[in-house]
Amino acid sequence: MYWSGWLSKSQVIQFSECPYAWYLNKIKRIKPKPVEALENGKAVHEALDFLYSKLDKDAFDSKHEIYECLKTHQDYERFKTQFDNFPEIMEKFTLKRPLFRELAISDQSTKLRAIIDRIDRIQNELYVVEYKWSKKWPWSEFELALYSVLVQKRWGNPIDKGAIVYLTDGDVKILDITPEMKKDAANLVIQTRNEIRKRLDKLDKVDTWVKTAEPSTIEKIECSFEKCPGERCKNCQYREYCGID
Ligand code: SF4
Repeated sequence: MYWSGWLSKSQVIQFSECPYAWYLNKIKRIKPKPVEALENGKAVHEALDFLYSKLDKDAFDSKHEIYECLKTHQDYERFKTQFDNFPEIMEKFTLKRPLFRELAISDQSTKLRAIIDRIDRIQNELYVVEYKWSKKWPWSEFELALYSVLVQKRWGNPIDKGAIVYLTDGDVKILDITPEMKKDAANLVIQTRNEIRKRLDKLDKVDTWVKTAEPSTIEKIECSFEKCPGERCKNCQYREYCGID
């Protein structure tokens, strides 16, 4: 069964949470269904991008200037609650334009890719920054550590500071990205890739047999990418295809 071996940060998280969701996504190539919570997060990300696209200087001068700019956004009324937090967040963090935003970064040697929300320089220190909708999301530290690994591979220098910006209440969490965090993140990627290969090999071995097997047997084989029902199912884009209530 062909798989390029490339992994994105999101795929590592998806497979770790539910191998079956990854299987439907990457092997079955089923188009994900839109889920409201994810669509909202995307829209608010886009609004932040809109804000900087309107900025024709290095920094906003005041919170007021940010409010005025946001009011011109097409989704202002829809996301007013979240948008109203932006000026506070940005004042807490930085009113300056980020060095990079929505930076797509990949590494051929590890076949790994990610999109970094932003990279900022604050008082001569670089920060990788992740916007988050919810404080319950358990993967933020992994994400920041992985960005740090990818940045080091791309430019040779590490970024050892991270920030998680919570869009819903305006909190900003600053953290040091330690060597252990980076090692754990890199190990999880290796482990994920090995697990996927192992399961795909298993599918290959029974490939000929599958062609003549009953659908129920195929289902059993596909279960080597097991379903892991849990909190994630609520916002799973593959729920409709999975049969979980
Ligand atoms: S609904 Fe739940 S069990 Fe089914 S694929 Fe999605 S995360 Fe996995």
